This record gives sequence, C-alpha cells and structure tokens, in this order.
Amino acid sequence: MSCRIYLDHAATTEILPQVKEAMEPYLMEEFGNASTAYGMGQETRNAIEQARERIAGIMDAQPEEIYFTSGGSESDNWVIKNVAGEKKNLGKHLITCKIEHHAVLRSCQYLEQLGYEVTYLDVDSYGQVSPEQVLSALREDTTLVSIMTGNNEIGTIEPIGQIGEALRKRGIAFHTDAVQAVGQIPISLRRLPVDYLSASAHKFHGPKGVGFLYMRKNKGLSSFIHGGSQEKGKRAGTENVAGIVGMAEALSISTKEMHQVRPRLIRLRNYFVERLLHEIPQVRLNGHPYKRLPGNVNISISGVDATSLLVLLEEEGICASAGSACNTGQTRISHVIEAIGVPEDYAPGTVRFTMGRQTDKRQIDETVDCLKRCVTLLRET
Ligand SMILES: *Cc1c(COP(=O)(O)O)cnc(C)c1O
Repeated sequence: MSCRIYLDHAATTEILPQVKEAMEPYLMEEFGNASTAYGMGQETRNAIEQARERIAGIMDAQPEEIYFTSGGSESDNWVIKNVAGEKKNLGKHLITCKIEHHAVLRSCQYLEQLGYEVTYLDVDSYGQVSPEQVLSALREDTTLVSIMTGNNEIGTIEPIGQIGEALRKRGIAFHTDAVQAVGQIPISLRRLPVDYLSASAHKFHGPKGVGFLYMRKNKGLSSFIHGGSQEKGKRAGTENVAGIVGMAEALSISTKEMHQVRPRLIRLRNYFVERLLHEIPQVRLNGHPYKRLPGNVNISISGVDATSLLVLLEEEGICASAGSACNTGQTRISHVIEAIGVPEDYAPGTVRFTMGRQTDKRQIDETVDCLKRCVTLLRET
C-alpha cells in the first residue's frame, strides 16, 4: 500500500529527481572501475573525487577528511570499534548515552563482550545529555566519547559543541552520529569540535547504502575493511560510484535549500504539535520543545496502543512510525522512550511523525483530523 501522506522521513527519504539524474551516467555508460589505469576508470575516479570535494566543501572540511562508507551504521561501527581497538593499550573505557541509535549501542555492547567497559549516560526528560555529565564520567582509561547530534526518535538536539569543547581540552576523542542532522540543520566542521562524524545519504534525499565518515586530519583511524587501496586503504572495496555521486548532489541540494525548508518545517511542526496538544486529550510531546530536529513530532497518547493506531492511520494512507523503524514488529517500548521516563500509561501509545520538504499544512490538518477519529475509536474499544 502506498503512502498518500508520508510522515516517516526519519526512516528514509525519497531520492530527488536531480539526484537520480546525477547518478544515471554512473549506472550506465560510465561504469569503469576507478582503480583501472585507462581513461574510463579515470572518469569514474574524477567523479568520486569531485563528490568528495563537494561534500568536504559543504561540511567545512578537507577532502582528505571524508571517507565513503555504506551508510550510517558502517560509519558508527568503524569509529567505535577502531578507536577502541587502536587505543586499547591506553584504556578500555568508552562513554556514550542511553538514547543512541542501535548502530552505536550494539557496537558498544560488542566491545563489552571483548572486555571493554562502557558508560551509558542517562538523559534528562527532554533527552539531553549535559557536558558536565560527560566530564564527570571521564576516567583515566577513557578513549572515546560518542554522543549523537540529533535523536532519530524524539528529535532532541544534543549540545555537541559544548561537549566537544570540553573533551578537546582533555584530549579525548569525540564522535557524533549526525545521521539525522546532516542536511537538516547547519553543521560546520571548522567550528564544531568533533573528531569523527557519521552521515548517511538516504536520510537527506540521497540513495540508500551510501554514507560518509568524517575524520579530523590529525586524528585518523585504522582500516575498517581490508583489501584494495580504495579510500586510502582504510575502506577497501570497489566504490559505489553512483551512490557517492548521488549523495554529493543530495547534500548540495539539501544544504542550499535549508534556509527555506528548515524554517517552514519548524513552523509546520509547531502548528502540528499545538493542534495535537489542544485537540486530543491526554497527549504529551516527547523530546525538547524547541531544541529539536525541524520535522520531528513524537507524541505519546495515553490509553492507546501505537501498533493499532498505525494500522488505522495506514488505512487512511498516512504513514508514520512507532519509535524507531528498527523496532517494527515488536510492541516493546523503545529504549529512548524508556530513557526519558515517559509514564507507563503513555509509553505504549508513542508515535513518531517526521515531515520532509514535500509535507504541507493540508497534510498535517488531515493527519490531525484522522488521529482524533482513530484515538476516539481506540479508546472506546
Ligand atoms: C538511520 C540512522 C542510522 C543508520 O544509518 P544507515 O545508513 O541506515 O545505516 C544511524 N544513526 C541514526 C541516528 C540514524 O537515524
């Protein structure tokens, strides 16, 4: 069944027509392997390096600091596992927080099985971690801190700048999973004091299965995939050329149009939240009221089961999500909702609506009207 009203942009986004156009030559005529010496391979190599320069330019970084990966999960795994491994003689302690994406949390759990220790910081009721909390969790043997930029479920934006500044003074490596933030909010790696940053193309209207990892020049990182000499030997494997070219185009468009899209989405989000809180009894907004990703609305509705609600919404052509997409099929309360302490009678009724560049006021009005009917129906049964 197709979505008439797609409100799940945090799960994935559609490829823009210009992105598809930019990719097409590299799926068809320009199929040369970038590692070959003849002209055809050179064409491909140039396309990859141009994409790297474009992305670096947009992110205020150097091209040598951008490494192409298969997406957010790979970038997160790479940093966490390899920083831990490289520095194991200095210490085996890492710090992260309880509301990270599973790509971070499960990489940390894997390290725990190997004998590492991980501190999972609590968050406040808005889902925020404070720089003081991070500092007081630091130990002699801490080698990495990983705190996300924007949360994929509740949209809360973390004080990454302040945390990074505090860590830089102590010389501790700092990684941020910025998969939900890149292309949505302004990020300058010249100003932001992070050493590693993960991003994924399909969250900003690029193709799936491609992303990048930023590594600050003086930091580096050992190889994640061993094999050929692609990505300076750190991430072997014939490059996903079309994906890389598409990602650069998508990031360029998202960034160029951010000054229009972002304020519009913030207004629409505030309108959406206002209507929900006023027109449906016993609803609460999860996440920070304004330090949140532009298109994110996450609510908990008392006395309603999210899975049943989503089925009713889908019958009306409205696609949304219960917490994170990775948890579909499970009615389990998400780790994020648990960590921010949503009351028991509200937690099972948690739904996430994430708007994108195509979302308009008419769709939001229709969604609110539909929600009102569905909630009444579910509360009656
Ligand atoms: C989507 C997402 C990921 C995973 O990215 P993929 O490219 O799908 O592997 C990681 N972290 C966050 C915060 C995400 O939203």
